This record gives sequence, C-alpha cells and structure tokens, in this order.
Amino acid sequence: MTHPTNLTGFNTRAIHVGQSPDPTTGATIPPIYVSSTYTQDGLGQHRGYEYGRGDNPTREALEAALASLEDGDFAVTFASGMAAGDSILRMLKPGDEVVAGLDLYGGVYRLLETVYRPHHHTQVRYIDLTRIDAVPASLSEKTRILWVETPSNPLLQVADIQALATVAHESGALLVVDNTFASPYLQNPLHWGADLVVHSMTKYIAGHSDAIGGAVLGRDPSLGEHLRFIRNAAGATLGPFEAWLILRGLKTLGVRMDRHVANAERVADFLAHHPAVARVYYPGHWTEEAGRIVARQMRAPGGMVSFEVHSALAPDLAAMGRLFTRFRVFSLAESLGGVESLVGHPATMTHAALPAFVRSERGIRDQLIRLSVGIEDYADLEADLRLALDALLEA
Ligand SMILES: *Cc1c(COP(=O)(O)O)cnc(C)c1O
Repeated sequence: MTHPTNLTGFNTRAIHVGQSPDPTTGATIPPIYVSSTYTQDGLGQHRGYEYGRGDNPTREALEAALASLEDGDFAVTFASGMAAGDSILRMLKPGDEVVAGLDLYGGVYRLLETVYRPHHHTQVRYIDLTRIDAVPASLSEKTRILWVETPSNPLLQVADIQALATVAHESGALLVVDNTFASPYLQNPLHWGADLVVHSMTKYIAGHSDAIGGAVLGRDPSLGEHLRFIRNAAGATLGPFEAWLILRGLKTLGVRMDRHVANAERVADFLAHHPAVARVYYPGHWTEEAGRIVARQMRAPGGMVSFEVHSALAPDLAAMGRLFTRFRVFSLAESLGGVESLVGHPATMTHAALPAFVRSERGIRDQLIRLSVGIEDYADLEADLRLALDALLEA
C-alpha cells in the first residue's frame, strides 16, 4: 500500500500514513482483509501475499502508521503486548543476561522469572535505572538486553533514555524501551538512541479498551527481519479485526492524549492537596532530576497518576477494599489507556504476580492506588475522587 511521504504533523500521519484509499474500490478506510490465504497467479507468482500468519494488508496499514509515529523504520505487530516483548526475549541464547528496571510491568517480570530464567537459562537482574551513575557497573559482557519502562508502572518513575542507550551500547547490549505508558505521542525512544521500542497497543494506542495487541518498533533492518521471522515462526500474529480496530483508535491518539494529560495534571494537583493522600506519583514530580528528564524526552507527563492514602486512614486490605467500592465514575479494573477512567490496586491486581517481599522492596504498598485518567469531563472525575477520599476522613 502506498502512502504520501510529505506528511509531517503527528495527527496527520496518524490519520493518513499507510491508509491511502484502497486501490481496487477506492474505499477511504483500509478494509479488514480476513482471508487466511491468497490465490496465486501461477507457480511462484503471488502478489506479495501468501498466507495470513505472515502477511495481511490491514496489519501492514497499521504497521506503516505506527512506524511513522514512533520515528521508526519498521513496526512488527503481535497478538498482545506480552507476545511483542516475548519476541524480543526470544533473541536470547542460554546464558545471556537481561538487566531490567526494578519497577517493571508484572507480566514482564513473570515472563522473565517463570519462563526465561528456568527454561531458557536466562540470567536476569533488576536494578534501579533511575540512578544512572550506578547502571554501568551492573552490566556485564553477558548482558544482551537492557530493558526499561519509562514512565514506569505503577510508580511512574522516569529514566533517562539517552543516558541508558549510551551505557547499553558501551557494553554491547540493546536498549529496549517499553513505551506503553507514554505512547508515541508523548515520547519517541528511538530518537534518544533506543534500539527497540515495545508497546502494549491494548492501552493508549487502541485507546478504547476493546482490543489486545502489541508492537515492536526499531530502525535496524536486521532486527526487524528477525522479529518478523519470529512472529511467523512462533505465530503470535495480530488478527485482522484487531489490527483494524487499533488503526481506528490510532487516528485519534493525539487528541485523546492531549485530553488525558490535561485531566491527569489536574487530578495529580487535586490529590496532592487532599488531606487523605500521603503521596502522589506523577512523572517528573518526584525530584528535580526527574523533572528535567521529563522536560527533555517527553512532550507531557501522561495520563497515569498513582497515589498513596495515609495508612492510618486505611490500615489494611479490608479498609482499602471499602475505599474501592466508593468510586462511581472510575471503574475498578486492570489495564489503562482507554477513554474511560480506571482505578486499580497494584498490590492485588497488576502487581499481584510479584512476591510480597519484592513488592515491598519496590515501594508498592497496600495503600497505593493507580489511576488511568480518562477523557471524561474533569469535574466528574474530581467529584468521584473527592467523594471516595472524603469518606476515608469521616470513617
Ligand atoms: C499491558 C502492558 C503490557 C502487556 O501488554 P498486553 O497487551 O496486556 O499483553 C506490557 N507492558 C506494559 C507497560 C503494559 O502496561
């Protein structure tokens, strides 16, 4: 599928790259090609498409748009964010090492600990990647991958991508950045020297909590070829319906993110001034250094806000449980990045896969609450939070 190359603005590219009118019918929107196979004109004479696990035009339209938005030369989509991450880890050989950030998506931690460490003899180390001075000493000649999530989940800490890329490359490792929380609209890690970017498209990119998908993006064509090979060989392919839904969501990523950020900034500010709240986590707010990193590598801090309520007001899980029943606009749910606001409890939901001692080591307390701030009217969000938190003070 051809696409115009003179498109510069983010929103214009999101709407047009890879999405020229269908050459056969003129359909303005890329059709959902559901065919699992393609009829060939003769022996060895196919038209670039042979079998749906490997090739699909709807998926290619999405990949062209994504690559453009993430400033990459290729995008390879997968059936989920986990499958995307797994396809990167499948490049490892036994004995290779992964160094990952402490504050890591629970599913990635589980994959490393229950699949790669025991079954692939991968060495795995977790370090605080926000303390850049200490990182070089933690890498060895066995380190093949440095894996960072920034902003991180659930504490929304930020790491300096450019500095990490330098450290990784000095010891011959690839820097992989999980860019799910920022989305391509707020941060482009390839621009700062990352080798691969991984996305759970399930979140902001799809944006409507109605599709599961993942993607890996990069510039080195040999990495792109390898990822495509793994996808076809292992088969964690993104289906055409999901590709189409995600492409539909992608068109409005920019306008949605502007609104997520506007609401989240106000929510973070409201929480910081509420007497039931002990601490607010929002990218860049924690230290001056973090503020500088956000100002340099992000266009805005994003739509996620985490906070802790005072343990004296909610001393145990039962009290936290009561608090979670009071939300009316925020839905109690896993996931993030949809238009609707969600509230989650990392200790028992997204990060339940971490052993309790690991959670406490990482500062994920029972009093921690994570918000995915949606694009509803701000006044309704604030009223919902106020009602729930005021009840804590009255109890
Ligand atoms: C959700 C998520 C994943 C996993 O993606 P799925 O699409 O759920 O498989 C990985 N990393 C981060 C940061 C996520 O939020």
